[in-house]
Amino acid sequence: MPELPEVEGLRRRLVPRLVGARIERLEVRDAKLWHPAEGLSEAAVAGRTVLAIDRYAKLLVFSLSGDLAFALHLKIAGQGVYQSVTGERLIGGHPYPLPGAVLPDPSTRFILWLGSGAAFFVNDQRRFSWLRLMPAAQVSEFVASHRYGPDPLAPDFTPDVLVSRLRARKGRPIKAALLDQTCLAGLGNIYADESLHAARLHPMLRAGDLTPADVRRLHAAIKHVLDIAVPVGGAIVKNGRAVADVESGRDFLRVHGRAGQPCPDCVGRAGGGSRDGSSDGSSRGATAQRSGAAGEAPRIVRAFLAGRGTYFCPVCQPAPPECGLG
Ligand SMILES: [Zn+2]
Repeated sequence: MPELPEVEGLRRRLVPRLVGARIERLEVRDAKLWHPAEGLSEAAVAGRTVLAIDRYAKLLVFSLSGDLAFALHLKIAGQGVYQSVTGERLIGGHPYPLPGAVLPDPSTRFILWLGSGAAFFVNDQRRFSWLRLMPAAQVSEFVASHRYGPDPLAPDFTPDVLVSRLRARKGRPIKAALLDQTCLAGLGNIYADESLHAARLHPMLRAGDLTPADVRRLHAAIKHVLDIAVPVGGAIVKNGRAVADVESGRDFLRVHGRAGQPCPDCVGRAGGGSRDGSSDGSSRGATAQRSGAAGEAPRIVRAFLAGRGTYFCPVCQPAPPECGLG
């Protein structure tokens, strides 16, 4: 993280505050993360107005007056903080620094000082984030160089599109295919786990073994998970654990970061029905064997797949026969 919902949630909240604002200056506090195109420097940003903020996968592109633009990638630990003149904060991305931290702090890598006295801070304790300044004419080529797949939030992301993206990766585990940015742009580890759980598909299933009904269910699950996650700016996960923060609306994860906890869907079914209203909702789920003691809901399992912590329910998401997981 930050993944698609965190980045898109930040973008949506920044647009009304930053678009139309005049930039007084850009302060670069970490030269390692700063990549101006040839002939440009941070001085070129001063006095320009933010015209638009667009997102491509997890990349944010700020279009500026005078045919300039900068691209910001928060990578795995970046955080964006808009601070108004009165000190009110809007925070997106990684949970650290904490909301009450004095900014700038040692993790602050860039600051956009705005003419109004407000500021936009980019913080990153891990130093993987980056900012690239370029002429506006270079943006489309720069974005294209990343070969992003279709955006799951775009209206033209249909079940047929997902079928064709998975067909090209049919030998790979479905979880690895979903994490591939050239397959699907920006979904990310947390939301791949949540989508597979909602679709009742084991993460190690080969993409090519999904039935047309599986793919339709997975497509619907991705849309459903993002519909919940994006408006609230994504979930909060700290040290591999989902954070219980009910008030913010960001406490919606059902499997990711919940290793050892009872599966909420199995608990729901044991209580008289699944959350999608069907008696079981899945032919794969219907054939699953219950595990654990009688009356005890199965617990979420954590495994490593494609180098990432992967969370799933061994009952809702039964393992394919050749799989060593679950
Ligand atoms: Zn379950």
